[in-house]
Amino acid sequence: MTRANSELRNAILAHLRNAHAGMCRHWFDDIDILDVNGGVLRFLVREPVQLRYLQRCCVEQFAEAAREVTGHLLAVRFVGEAEAHSASTNGHLNGAEGSNSNGAGHSITALMPDDEMLLSPDYAFEHFVIGPGNQLAHAAATAVAKKPGRAYNPLFIHGGVGLGKTHLLHAICQHVLRNNSSLRICYTSCNGFMTSFTECVQDGRMAEFRHRFRHVDMLVIDDIHDLSKRGQTQEEFFHTFNALYQAGKQIVLSSDAAPSEIPDLEERLVSRFNSGLVARIEKPCYETRVSIVRSKAGLRNLTLPEDVACYIAAKIDTNIRELEGAITKLQSLAYLHRKLITLELAKEAIGQETGADNESGFASPTIQAIIDAITAYYNIKLADLLSKRRHKSIAMPRQVAMYLARKHTRYSLEEIGGYFGGRDHTTVMHAVRTIDAKQELDNGLRTDVSRIEHHLLDRN
Ligand code: ADP
Ligand code: MG
Repeated sequence: MTRANSELRNAILAHLRNAHAGMCRHWFDDIDILDVNGGVLRFLVREPVQLRYLQRCCVEQFAEAAREVTGHLLAVRFVGEAEAHSASTNGHLNGAEGSNSNGAGHSITALMPDDEMLLSPDYAFEHFVIGPGNQLAHAAATAVAKKPGRAYNPLFIHGGVGLGKTHLLHAICQHVLRNNSSLRICYTSCNGFMTSFTECVQDGRMAEFRHRFRHVDMLVIDDIHDLSKRGQTQEEFFHTFNALYQAGKQIVLSSDAAPSEIPDLEERLVSRFNSGLVARIEKPCYETRVSIVRSKAGLRNLTLPEDVACYIAAKIDTNIRELEGAITKLQSLAYLHRKLITLELAKEAIGQETGADNESGFASPTIQAIIDAITAYYNIKLADLLSKRRHKSIAMPRQVAMYLARKHTRYSLEEIGGYFGGRDHTTVMHAVRTIDAKQELDNGLRTDVSRIEHHLLDRN
């Protein structure tokens, strides 16, 4: 890349970071400008999955940035190495989107017969944080990615919303694409499968449908629970499943419920799904969430101070997708006001929620409010409070925090343990009993606890 092109690229990326902070990824720095020709600015993208992702999701934003930066009416195209190298002979003749010339070395579209197959470069194994709740699913997914058809077949991953099912499915596909580029993969959502089926039935194109889903080495279907109540599609899926299974081809499925808990799913499908490995993903514990926040921030080239990562992870404890939303919000706010990312800013960005209402009709404090009150009252750091440190100056405030969380919120002992650095329920129970008992004897502690309570209930 020439120096001028490199400067132009940097200016475009800087513009994108301002205007579309949530979209930018650290690997955007690996994109080079190939040339500007006939009003078309071409970017070279070497990684096939990234290339496809940019082509499908980012053209408009890049074009807008290119226009802003240069003041010229430019169009933007992302191309792979194959097209870049054939540029002198082909020029832009194959310029239409979806042409076969966008692969690096091999034609990626040939590996992706399914037009729906858009894989997110974010959802790779290297960006998946392993924790107690997803260890099995992750291990099974990597085994399948390394040896499709030979490790576990089918692999059935299930769990609640936003816990990483789609991420693992994409990671499997990307790993296989990278390492066994001759394997044919079909990744689709269950709805994609059903729509395809309905259209092909209507148009009398069943041979095409069967070719598409049965002549693959790996079929990956996301959200298979959507098959519920779809009798005719279930029938077709059953035959697809059998054809692939008997041919030793890999099948990977994800679902929001275990096979036997998907309503109105035929028994024969339930037993097929149970015949391989069924791996459940549980909600991540606090430590896993902190690591996920860091990983997500890292993808955006964002360094979060320790207390901010802890704050976000403590504040958002159910759906990981919301963790990402919180980072985006924080990032945008920081750009908007040209401020550094600090705990104060994080509180401003995501701190306005109030707690769940309790029986008396008053809002009860959130665990975060309790944590805030404790760190302020005892003047200790959030990271210390949630750490494994056992020094009395930290351990005692932590026990008070657990005690207050138990007394004033509806969270279970396990959940409270999760908030306080992934401790188990017996630790929380012990903390509650200790503070209860000590208050009887220790006037100072009793005063402290009631002051914190007063402050908490006042705030709400
Ligand atoms: P699901 O398909 O289970 O509803 P997704 O796979 O779409 O959930 O995950 C939601 C978001 O959470 C995605 O951004 C994903 O990358 C992220 N995520 C979930 N689990 C993890 C994990 N263990 N490590 C890193 N990111 C994760
Ligand atoms: Mg999903």
